[in-house]
Amino acid sequence: NMGLPRVNLFFFLFIIRVLISLQSKEHVLLDMKASGSELGWLTSPNENGWEIVQTVVNSSLLYTYSVCNVDSADQDNWVRTTFIQRRPESSRVSVELQFIVRDCNTFDGASVTCKETFNLFMSEADADVGTSFRKGQFRKVATIAPDEVTRGRVPKVNTETRTVFPLSKKGFYLAFQDMGACVALLSVRVYYKTCPSTVRSLAAFPETVADALREVEGVCVKNAISQTTPRIYCTAEGKWVVPVVQCQCLPGYEATEGSCQECKPGYFKPSASNEICQVCPENTKSSSAGATECVCEDGFFRSPSDPLTAACSAPPSAPRDLTSTTLSGDGRLLLSWSPPLETGGRSDLTYSVACEICDESQCVACGEKIRFETGPTELKEPGVVVSDLDSHHNYTFTVEAHSGVSQYGSERATASITTTLDYTNPPKVTSIHLDDRGPTSLSLSWTLSRRPPAHISHHYELMYRKKDTEGESDVTTYTVLILDKNSVLINDLTPDTTYVFRVLVKLSPEVMPGSYSKDQAFHTSALAESQTQNKPTLVMGAVVGVAIILLIVVAVLLLRRRRLSSRGRGGPEDPYFSTADQLKPLKTYVDPHTYEDPNIAIQKFVKEIDPNIIRKEKVIGVGEFGEVFRGVMKVPRKGDLAVAIKTLKPGYSEKQRQDFLSEASIMGQFSHPNIIRLEGVVTKFKHAMIVTEYMENGALDTHLKEHDTEIPPYQLLGMLRGIAAGMKYLSDMNYVHRDLAARNVLVNSSLECKVSDFGLSRVLEDDAEGTYTTRGGKIPIRWTAPEAIEYRKFTSASDVWSFGIVMWEVMAFGERPYWDMSNHEVMKAINEAFRLPAPMDCPSAIYQLMLQCWQHDRSKRPRFSDIVNILDKLLQSPESLKTIADFDPRVSIRLPSTSGCDNTMFRSVAEWLESIKMSQYNESFARAGITTMDHVLALRPEDIRNIGVRLPGHMKRIAYSILGLKDETSSLSVFAV
Ligand code: AMP
Repeated sequence: NMGLPRVNLFFFLFIIRVLISLQSKEHVLLDMKASGSELGWLTSPNENGWEIVQTVVNSSLLYTYSVCNVDSADQDNWVRTTFIQRRPESSRVSVELQFIVRDCNTFDGASVTCKETFNLFMSEADADVGTSFRKGQFRKVATIAPDEVTRGRVPKVNTETRTVFPLSKKGFYLAFQDMGACVALLSVRVYYKTCPSTVRSLAAFPETVADALREVEGVCVKNAISQTTPRIYCTAEGKWVVPVVQCQCLPGYEATEGSCQECKPGYFKPSASNEICQVCPENTKSSSAGATECVCEDGFFRSPSDPLTAACSAPPSAPRDLTSTTLSGDGRLLLSWSPPLETGGRSDLTYSVACEICDESQCVACGEKIRFETGPTELKEPGVVVSDLDSHHNYTFTVEAHSGVSQYGSERATASITTTLDYTNPPKVTSIHLDDRGPTSLSLSWTLSRRPPAHISHHYELMYRKKDTEGESDVTTYTVLILDKNSVLINDLTPDTTYVFRVLVKLSPEVMPGSYSKDQAFHTSALAESQTQNKPTLVMGAVVGVAIILLIVVAVLLLRRRRLSSRGRGGPEDPYFSTADQLKPLKTYVDPHTYEDPNIAIQKFVKEIDPNIIRKEKVIGVGEFGEVFRGVMKVPRKGDLAVAIKTLKPGYSEKQRQDFLSEASIMGQFSHPNIIRLEGVVTKFKHAMIVTEYMENGALDTHLKEHDTEIPPYQLLGMLRGIAAGMKYLSDMNYVHRDLAARNVLVNSSLECKVSDFGLSRVLEDDAEGTYTTRGGKIPIRWTAPEAIEYRKFTSASDVWSFGIVMWEVMAFGERPYWDMSNHEVMKAINEAFRLPAPMDCPSAIYQLMLQCWQHDRSKRPRFSDIVNILDKLLQSPESLKTIADFDPRVSIRLPSTSGCDNTMFRSVAEWLESIKMSQYNESFARAGITTMDHVLALRPEDIRNIGVRLPGHMKRIAYSILGLKDETSSLSVFAV
């Protein structure tokens, strides 16, 4: 037990502080020095006992009593004070003595009878008894011994204080008994103590006599109140300790130096509390002095449940983009919409949906006949499934946005749609085409009756079997393939045999089941036919090349499988290769560099476009090889198609031209709704061009930054789901992207996300994020898995890591991963098992998935198919997104800063706010007293809200920026997994 526990120690220190700050007050009843010669004390015996002695000290006369009968035995010398009146309040007095005692050793041969102590006695009385002195009436209080005896000429003065209590009579006498010492009594002071009148915790306490520990009642100061009477303790030593009840300033008043003062204009305090006045919240009129609330500005309101400290808010505008989709099951419809543009700065937005059946003359409410699966009111998500609908009615749905203040709006915020059940959903496969065939393979593609709805993902179920031969019926053995794109190459077929195919389009989630296409039969070629084929040798070479590659792939597969089975599942080898699932597109991506002449790869995978049908309109970006234009392509029978045109700048070398076009020959092999679609290339013209579908909203990172306050989490998740589906497709094709990042994902007008940027050299050259690693290659460090940085192990599992980073970018609205940590710091942190913290307001389930993607052991990361499944599940149960992952900028990824920066980067709060484009809050920060960058660094997320920043996007931007600043100033804490 080494000393006091910490808590006790603090309490102890606290008490000491209290004691020092509250000095006691002394009321003197008797002072020997002050009385001079007029003491009139009684001595006994009259002669040869205590004697009054007059001495001159510092030119003033001093009277002392002394006695020095050290060589006589049986000494009993008394001196008694005059009657000392007691104050009725005090039952305890202090007696302070100053005296000198001579050392017995200084008297020759007197050591036997000599004493070095004397005794203090007292006797109570109700009246002055005059000279009548009876020793028997006195009781002993203490033996008084000196701390130091006097030996030489210099007197050693001792001071001793004794307390005399309890006292009950009107007064008392003190007496000093000497029994053979050599003593001089220099001073006797008798006094009682009080705790002085004081103001503590906004309560005034009267002067109080200090006897025992006494509880004292007080009264609150002006403009302060308390529930119960304020109390404090006065100790026997005359010190105030431990106020028990505190007073609080009235609404509109705050405590300043023990009194309650009116709030300054522009500030308010809504209740009696110990808090200080707060700055009037946003959208309120500035208050006058002593305000208890700040009134809303015109057009802004508070809901009855809003606290007075909340900002005033505006009613919401109408929901947008209301659409309906027929779902599977009888009479089910999905109504979905986008949140209003104007939320009024509130987070309690809900929706209600009303249904009417209208004919030409009138509308009637749908009433009980239909059912809203999550109820028609209080909807938190921008969507609801309606069931029990009749197919022959026209339904009009009106969606209204509500918030705590929507009742104050001048108009109702509604959007309407009239719709019927659309049983033609989903689209059907109209015909299957034979694209190519060999003795053991058929290459098929198919067309749809119409495009599937944009916001619903789709895939195909292809079934095939050998056509029944005469007398043999084997209808049950179908092979089923689940495919993401509308074409397939089927291998391992029997030569010269007819196969029957049918395809079904499936939409997910929950949309109406479709029906299979008509059976269509195709015949594989006979062996002889392919041998006698007389195609140009170039193409022949290509086919042989592809066959060899396929053979190598199969061999690698077999080898790996054998290795895997000997180690068991989940071994350290690439898990993505162990998937020989039969339900996968059988197509594998072919690296164009395996062709000796890259032009052949281009011919094989890419359509040549006539430059006359394309027109460039406007530069929209700059790529590594030249400008990127928005343009139009005239498509025969289809009209104008918006396209993006990537150009190769003039003066290129042949090598550059091939690198440029290699992106097209990779893109040309893909066909998936979440992969950027190649329309074709122009190679036969002096400026080579790559033409792709046009993505109206540009790169994902920029789009998110620009719309951070508008996109609800549900929609962010939908975007991630799209990217994951695209990546699943790529990994199924055995294509490793290596540079998946939000800047390489493009967004179209319906907010569909598509993976882009497939250049072969691009990882090395084109990406500004690319950094040369120690091993030579250029790698975008903060998006890349550790094994890929360390030993260039790029796999679909390293793409999964990058996807995790993209998830973070998306949930953080385009924030830069790891903020402005250096690449070196990022690598160090990752190797020490630190990971990015959850973005603000990020659903916990999403953050958990990110962390899974960032498992160090790549075999433990989920596959893209797992990710798609998880995201689908989350999308189907919005409830699962309610739990928000902890966001705490104070415990975020940080490294000991190696750069040694300081926050002198910004000289003022205004300069900093401007740098993050938040200058509109200059005044709010100033009003809240945040005037230096040190104040800024000390802000917590909740403080940002209190300053008056209410929009979630703005709060995030400010919080993250502070995080970034701290990053540079402190030796930093970290977020460990
Ligand atoms: P890239 O060379 O592919 O990185 O393209 C450079 C920039 O051009 C991108 O960051 C986009 O802003 C823009 N861009 C490229 N392709 C498209 C497209 N298909 N649609 C719209 N913008 C595009």
